[in-house]
Amino acid sequence: MFGKNPVGRPSDGEKSAAATGRTLRLVHEAVLEALSPTRCAGCERPGELICAQCLDELELIDPAFACTRCGAPYGSLVCTECTPAAGEGIFDGSPIRRVLAMAVFSGPLPRIVRAYKDAGEQRLARVFAEMLLDTAEHAELAAPDRYGGLLSAADALTFVPVTAAAYRRRGFDHMEAIVSSMATAAGMPVVDALAKRGAADQRRLGRAGRMERARDAYEVVVDVDGLRMLLVDDVITTGSTVVSAAKALHCAGVAEVDVLALARVLR
Ligand SMILES: [Zn+2]
Ligand SMILES: [Zn+2]
Repeated sequence: MFGKNPVGRPSDGEKSAAATGRTLRLVHEAVLEALSPTRCAGCERPGELICAQCLDELELIDPAFACTRCGAPYGSLVCTECTPAAGEGIFDGSPIRRVLAMAVFSGPLPRIVRAYKDAGEQRLARVFAEMLLDTAEHAELAAPDRYGGLLSAADALTFVPVTAAAYRRRGFDHMEAIVSSMATAAGMPVVDALAKRGAADQRRLGRAGRMERARDAYEVVVDVDGLRMLLVDDVITTGSTVVSAAKALHCAGVAEVDVLALARVLR
């Protein structure tokens, strides 16, 4: 890769320290499990990382009726937010071919995502990876005319990276962990293509601030020319993040970019 360390990207040193940290954490987890059993990330019930009841409460999005442009659960092709009548939407004119999201960001899902990103329950990476692969495979089967090839025809997976500041705060890149697990399970390559510029935490910004901040927020740091890529993210709120990341990929010569996410926020 390149000799320079682009702004906002965790260094190799930080990543190797994190890898050692992961090994220690696995040992630590085994000890913890013996002392205090796993609780559900959604409701604290002892047993599974995500219990059957919380799984049941997920508001899954039917790929046959989702908006292929923004991933919202309504509209048989594109939702009202995305129709020309709605004016200048974030997804209008974006290089993203299709967006697929697993579920609406509601019920137990926000708590589960928080438990993973901010409360350090990193075992959820594997669970989220399985959920994302199931979501894509199901969509390809259930709605082949709309989501066919989303996963199976992609050359590689990539992800929306965290800032260096968030990496240091959390000790890991939460999307890299999920996508690495997906890649192992699906036998697909991951291309760690994107680096984020700047360190502002998006959650502190309002909608307008996010849109402004996300513009040109990413740069591509490896050769992605001609690849069909599946860009994976956790939660799509306004869409500005994935659109911005997709624009950077598009400018770097990516042939096609589809987006797969765990959740879609409905306003
Ligand atoms: Zn639960
Ligand atoms: Zn839409």
